[in-house]
Amino acid sequence: MNDFQARIHKLQTTMQAQGVALTLLAGTDQMRYLSGWREGGHERFVGLFVPAQGEPAFVVPAMNAPQAQKTPLGVSHVRGWEDQNGWHPDAKALFAEYAIGEGATVLVDDELLSVHLLGLQSLFPSLHFAPAGDLMASLRQSKTPAEIANMDEAARLIDAVFEEALGQLREGITELELAEFVLSAIRAKGSAPSFDPLICFGANCALPHHHTGNTRLQKGDTVIIDIGCLAEHYASDITRTVCFGTPRDPDVAKVYQIVFAAHWAARNHAAPGITCEAVDAAAREVITKAGYGEAFLHRTGHGIGISTHEPPYIVAGNNLPLQEGMCFSVEPGIYLAGRFGVRIENIVTVINDGVRSVNADEPAEIRIV
Ligand code: ZN
Ligand code: ZN
Ligand code: ZN
Repeated sequence: MNDFQARIHKLQTTMQAQGVALTLLAGTDQMRYLSGWREGGHERFVGLFVPAQGEPAFVVPAMNAPQAQKTPLGVSHVRGWEDQNGWHPDAKALFAEYAIGEGATVLVDDELLSVHLLGLQSLFPSLHFAPAGDLMASLRQSKTPAEIANMDEAARLIDAVFEEALGQLREGITELELAEFVLSAIRAKGSAPSFDPLICFGANCALPHHHTGNTRLQKGDTVIIDIGCLAEHYASDITRTVCFGTPRDPDVAKVYQIVFAAHWAARNHAAPGITCEAVDAAAREVITKAGYGEAFLHRTGHGIGISTHEPPYIVAGNNLPLQEGMCFSVEPGIYLAGRFGVRIENIVTVINDGVRSVNADEPAEIRIV
């Protein structure tokens, strides 16, 4: 049994315990996790059908059938559908083959296109469709040592890319030019980006999800570099805040120190058995006590693995206890509209008595470049 077959086995055991008849994964990271292959299908239907017992099957566009036959999972049952016929006949045949009875529960990939789910619902009106996200998260969120080795490698690569990017900072460079450099540096290492580089100069740093654009770097600007890449399909994701020359705003150094303290408060608090929301609260308390609670505009972090954002989410209301092997970001920030922003993000993995950062640690004082 290879790793992928073992994952299918674990999924099926869980499905049996929960009374789930079938789980349908779309061509997403869920499919990558279970089969070692993903194919978005370019709007066409792509599905991995996993029954509670027995062999899984692929239903894919006929042109992708040769690839579906050669995944590391090793699925012999592949149905390729032709554009002129559509995929409904294959889905019908498979549901019959798996004897999915009236009222059965079918879990569906959270990212299956709604047009495909609506098709399934009209084909099988008596079935109970529910999201597969929670069940898949229970399988994926604690990583094996082999998966963590990939996370470590992705982290090592992106830490090096960040150092190279610092060397590119010069007056007049645009955010997009720096983003292009980051992409080329990632590719030069034989890797690929895990998401589009997020580069912010000056007041743009006050928008957590600023759209990297044509703003030019000026002396005194803060610079946020939020970047990630892949190793064996596992993602890295870091954010660093530096200043280009002496900070223009007198509060930059102080705000950086507060975010740094919040980042470490979360890391020092996180350990097996500690809840996700308690980790969020640890970071938030530092920022709130310093008077910037309103300026911390998002949750403290997100899980990461094959997907850059995946469970567990480090957020108020999530009482899931951390377990060894979980990997997540710790990325508190303070955003002051019209002025600047600071975010510090490392990825950590839960170990027996705390967490270990897969990334190099940032200095306690903001770097002046
Ligand atoms: Zn984000
Ligand atoms: Zn992140
Ligand atoms: Zn990030």
